[in-house]
Amino acid sequence: MTNFDVVIIGGGILGTTLSYFLSFLNKSKKIAVVEQAHKVAFHTSKRNTGKVHAPYLYNPETKKMYAKTAFHGYTMWERYAKLKDLPFKQDGVIEVAVDNQKDVLERHLKWGLQNGLDDNEIKLLSGAELSKIEPEIRCKSALYVSRDASVDYALFTDSLMQDSSKNGTSFLLNSEVTDIQKTADTWKITLRDGRLLDAKFLINAAGGQSVDIAHAVGVATKFTDIHFRGEYWKAPAEYHTITKSSVYSVPKLPEYPFLDPHWIIRADGSCEIGPNAVPVFSPYGYDLSENLRQLVPKTLEMLRSGARKMIFDREFQELALEEIGSSLSKTMMINRVRRFLPKIDANKITVRGTAGIRSSVIDDDGKFVPDIMLENTDMSFHILNYNSPGATGVLPFSAHVIDTLNSTGIFCSQQQDAKCGPWQFSEILARLC
Ligand SMILES: Cc1cc2nc3c(=O)[nH]c(=O)nc-3n(C[C@H](O)[C@H](O)[C@H](O)COP(=O)(O)OP(=O)(O)OC[C@H]3O[C@@H](n4cnc5c(N)ncnc54)[C@H](O)[C@@H]3O)c2cc1C
Repeated sequence: MTNFDVVIIGGGILGTTLSYFLSFLNKSKKIAVVEQAHKVAFHTSKRNTGKVHAPYLYNPETKKMYAKTAFHGYTMWERYAKLKDLPFKQDGVIEVAVDNQKDVLERHLKWGLQNGLDDNEIKLLSGAELSKIEPEIRCKSALYVSRDASVDYALFTDSLMQDSSKNGTSFLLNSEVTDIQKTADTWKITLRDGRLLDAKFLINAAGGQSVDIAHAVGVATKFTDIHFRGEYWKAPAEYHTITKSSVYSVPKLPEYPFLDPHWIIRADGSCEIGPNAVPVFSPYGYDLSENLRQLVPKTLEMLRSGARKMIFDREFQELALEEIGSSLSKTMMINRVRRFLPKIDANKITVRGTAGIRSSVIDDDGKFVPDIMLENTDMSFHILNYNSPGATGVLPFSAHVIDTLNSTGIFCSQQQDAKCGPWQFSEILARLC
């Protein structure tokens, strides 16, 4: 089959979840998810920290969509995990102030409550109070949040793909989109192997390449992106019970879209340190050869766009140097966590974890865009800057996107409501209002 009503570019957790809701609500439509890798969730959607994040870090004004969808994502993932017998471990999270940053914790407490957390779920503690719960952690004060969980987003994406396939969605794997042309009423989509697809409507959920795809069809041309590789180190088994919860420190530069490396508990009980945020030249810049290949084109693109202001900014340069340092030196990276978990010995940590890459969108003024970006045309819809906590909030977020598209009549859907797996679609939307 090469003619589709809807083609979704990107088989990460976002593209797969969009297809999931679309397939329940638009049963008569031919839907395809086109993914260049041999499986879904091959890139960022499996290469992350695996947290269902509590929404205390997100300013309810500037990161409204991230905050709202993360809050509702928690109960939805909990329910889906139960239904499919997938791991969902409520193990909580602690944000620590190593220095005098209690005011930041107070702000995060306020945001957490504003974003829907209950005051039983988020508490400000002194260093002494925390040490009764977590004796190995050193800090002056801490925010303890119980409503935070560890999961495996690759397993979730696989399972959603199976559900979506059962409803008739075609998953075209090993299929890289290399060209997109618009005719009067169809998109002509060319794949790397020469196959041609026709689509009446296009959804761009291409993660680290979503900005490039948007540019290819003349959308969001004032924006660009910078890619950051987040690296991890695996802790040996003797450290797996050193804390009960994952531990984050107060972000040094809160306006940047990433945090300092944390102490992470995974869904399987193992522990890791990471991620840092090393600037790289490609959304797939896991190794030197890919970065060298993209060095010249990406540098030229950044110099021609708003990213130029960012890369000549002194604060950004200092941060980039620190992040590169913690990529080259394991000890430097681990010392960032030893500030609050001094028991960790870098010599005992010898195995690297799986790195993942975030692509942060920059506006023409050289500033990071704080929230998810939605761009639409008459025949396409583009989701850009879909970064953390994107995996946490992807179920309610995708329901919101499909509802937006259905309500504009784009798909001429006969069904505005349906049972989608364990949820009634209208109930998900009602929660988001
Ligand atoms: C280090 C790190 C840690 C994170 N930790 C967390 C966390 O703990 N909790 C959380 O909620 N979020 C976390 N996130 C964020 C979360 O992982 C992302 O928001 C989410 O995975 C984005 O999903 P996606 O589907 O948009 O992108 P992706 O997973 O990147 O999927 C996009 C897909 O599009 C495909 N594609 C691109 N171009 C083409 C093309 N031309 N043709 C065909 N296919 C194409 C790619 O191959 C890719 O598979 C983290 C992110 C990073 C980088």
